[in-house]
Amino acid sequence: MDHFLYRDGELYAEDVPVREIAASVGAPFYCYSTATLTRHFRLFDEALDGMDHLVCYAMKANSNQAVLSLLGSLGAGMDVVSGGEYRRAKAAGVPGERIVFSGVGKTEGEMRLAIEGGIRQFNIESEPEMALLSAVASSMGVEVPVTIRVNPDVDAKTHEKISTGRKGDKFGIPISRAKEIYAQAAALPGLKVIGIDVHIGSQMTDLEPFRLAFRKVAELTEVLRAEGHEIARLDLGGGLGIPYERSNEAPPLPVEFGQVVREEVSHLGCEIEIEPGRLIAGNAGILVSEVIYVKSGEDREFLILDAAMNDLIRPAMYGAYHDIIPVVEPEAGAEPAVYDIVGPVCESGDTFAKQRVMARMGAGDLVAFRSAGAYGAVMASEYNSRPMIPEVLVHGDQFAVIRARPTFDEMINRDTIPSWM
Ligand SMILES: *Cc1c(COP(=O)(O)O)cnc(C)c1O
Repeated sequence: MDHFLYRDGELYAEDVPVREIAASVGAPFYCYSTATLTRHFRLFDEALDGMDHLVCYAMKANSNQAVLSLLGSLGAGMDVVSGGEYRRAKAAGVPGERIVFSGVGKTEGEMRLAIEGGIRQFNIESEPEMALLSAVASSMGVEVPVTIRVNPDVDAKTHEKISTGRKGDKFGIPISRAKEIYAQAAALPGLKVIGIDVHIGSQMTDLEPFRLAFRKVAELTEVLRAEGHEIARLDLGGGLGIPYERSNEAPPLPVEFGQVVREEVSHLGCEIEIEPGRLIAGNAGILVSEVIYVKSGEDREFLILDAAMNDLIRPAMYGAYHDIIPVVEPEAGAEPAVYDIVGPVCESGDTFAKQRVMARMGAGDLVAFRSAGAYGAVMASEYNSRPMIPEVLVHGDQFAVIRARPTFDEMINRDTIPSWM
């Protein structure tokens, strides 16, 4: 249930016809549903019911201020991976005590920023990072809460580019060295070691890798406690996948994920954090685009859209699949067409789908990419000098532009020509 449904022959976003939004803001644009974002956050929150927990939204999935403000107001914490994200979370009104700082390359400036503004914990990923954070915190005369991210060497069985928990991945410290590194951390000034962090990948559609990783974290908890460390908090990361191809995918639900957490770690009595991103925002958003041309090639037809790889890079970057549906509901029994669906960018990689079977379309028709709310707008660029497209948030029968399309002058005037020219 995602609140983008056909009603009276056309696609609605909650109670607003998508066509109306398109008429108002112009295609292409992203459109998010308040009801879906709310529902997905609550599903995770409820999945951990009965355990002391905080759901920290991994805001890299979609960091629009309106989205952060909505989730923050529901009680979400935030998982940030840069100083920019930290500032966005604070600007959206999320208090420092609900912000966790992840990422392999935190700089001294980012550490200072978060310590000054307040932080729930740093998730440390390496020994040099640990040493720097210790020095920064000591110089500021404070002790900061930290967990250490362990790499459990578990195969998340997901796409190569978003797998993060195997030996060869750049993330975390090897779990085999955890005892030694926790001992080092405990001896460093300015750090208060409070727990363990793990995150093994994204778009995971099988619970077994989660279970294996959580089990290793539970074992490590006992080992570290026996060494005298106080392990009071477990950050179990994000990564639960969503159905991109509705007709043949049914990944596990948050409640089932919660059950695995309960089975593997609840006996330890730790406070639990999770960091879902994609599952909260992914199916809460669509990308709406207009057909510019239907072009007949040698052996196929191309649907040329006004959205391109710079607006939604997932198909080009990961070979990702998105359902692409007409905004006007196809007539039952109408003969479908087969298209290669492409954007206008001058790269063959600018292809959203090959040989996709869908309703016959014509120039000027609107289509919607489903499951585009996560890792969509945030990964966009202005390649080919295509200005960033607007983002719209729907709430019941209302909608608002939550990021306006820049003018061409705004885009061009960000550059400056040196005075010597
Ligand atoms: C990306 C990321 C997440 C979120 O992953 P999703 O697949 O979007 O749920 C959580 N934690 C960390 C550390 C991440 O890097």
